Amino acid sequence: MKHAQPTAPSVRPSACPGLLRIVQAKDGGICRIKLPCGRLDSHQARAIAAAATQHASGVIEATNRSNLQIRGVKADAEQALIDALLAARLGADSPGADDVRNLMVSPLAGLDPSALVDISPLAARILALLQDKAHFHALSPKFALLLDGGESMAMLEHPHDLWVSAMGTGDHAQFAFGLAGCPPQSTGDVPALAAVPRAQVPALVEALLDLFLELATPEQTRMRHLLAEHPEGDLLLRLQQRLDVPLLPVGDWHRPAPQPFAHLGIHDGRHVGGAPALGRLDATQLKALADLADSLGDGNLRLTPWQSVLLPNARDPEAVQQAMHDLGLATNANAPLARLVACTGSAGCARGLADTKSDALALAALLPPGAVVHLSGCPRSCASAHVAPFTLLATGPGQYDLYQRGGVGFGRLLARDISLKEAGERLASPPDTWSSTQ
Ligand code: SF4
Repeated sequence: MKHAQPTAPSVRPSACPGLLRIVQAKDGGICRIKLPCGRLDSHQARAIAAAATQHASGVIEATNRSNLQIRGVKADAEQALIDALLAARLGADSPGADDVRNLMVSPLAGLDPSALVDISPLAARILALLQDKAHFHALSPKFALLLDGGESMAMLEHPHDLWVSAMGTGDHAQFAFGLAGCPPQSTGDVPALAAVPRAQVPALVEALLDLFLELATPEQTRMRHLLAEHPEGDLLLRLQQRLDVPLLPVGDWHRPAPQPFAHLGIHDGRHVGGAPALGRLDATQLKALADLADSLGDGNLRLTPWQSVLLPNARDPEAVQQAMHDLGLATNANAPLARLVACTGSAGCARGLADTKSDALALAALLPPGAVVHLSGCPRSCASAHVAPFTLLATGPGQYDLYQRGGVGFGRLLARDISLKEAGERLASPPDTWSSTQ
């Protein structure tokens, strides 16, 4: 049984930047460019680099949702920046749709022979659904979907309001789904709710988004808020009434683990990934990457949820890797900066208690191989959508609380209000020799 499309969506105001909504920060305006499935061509990359130079500070950030944002937008240049980006076809099909194009896919979607399914056609249909159905524009800019084809390069740790993941191959593959979480990878993870046949994935997404908008209050911007009031079983019953096919059981399905750090270096002999230091590019680097995509690739770039860039279909992968390295991008998982994440911090954000970017650069020299650390200027954790193995939470300039992942929040508090040097020493020694402060 189909339900009528909701006609009066509640508007959920947001302070998140968008292409048309430049948000002020300490270092000027922020303009976020949502890239469909993280993709852009070399012309668009050059347009972003030129606009960032002309109308902003030239600083460009790769985000953990495979987007780009321009920082330091000059107050009198906002409209000129927006016009330049729209002229490069970087806007949504309609102004109201800019915020809601939050569909994450693997950077290798459509390119990975080991994937179960090429989800590219499904991703295009879901993106069209989000843009074309005006009532979906009432979704929060943070409301996020994951479509997973079983690729070897996949970010599965970011919680998504709705995730959908291939369980098998071919046209009749089933797709498992879940709400407010991640695909289960091991025993103990929250299992999938149910599955649908591949052909029903767009209908599933549409029905779930309709259900969310009908049931959620304006304050309930995320699926987890709705689940706090409506049990999953109740939502599944309501969902089943909207679908033409029965929801399928998933048994004890687990998503096979993706390849760690596959986003760096040469993948599958032809795709090359590099991570700019702490997710930050300048306009010169972005323009050079665009030129590289034209000269040695297929003219395209893909952003990744690891705040890095992938150059697909490289004709000379070793040369591309060397060029990325020469541009200052990490192409090797052993590079300390490849394992460090830091938010904007006090240099650009009024909430920041420490200059996390500068501190992360200093910490890189002190870190042992293998340590994965997130420096956060405050508890909002903008730079990491999931909890890192180690988190340094700023308490003041150059001072941090150190946490190890596990349990709630950032995890177990290992040390309180320590300096960067002490943090480096702690992280350089085996964790089992540390005494917790709790
Ligand atoms: S985590 Fe806090 S300090 Fe860092 S960018 Fe976000 S709001 Fe600012």
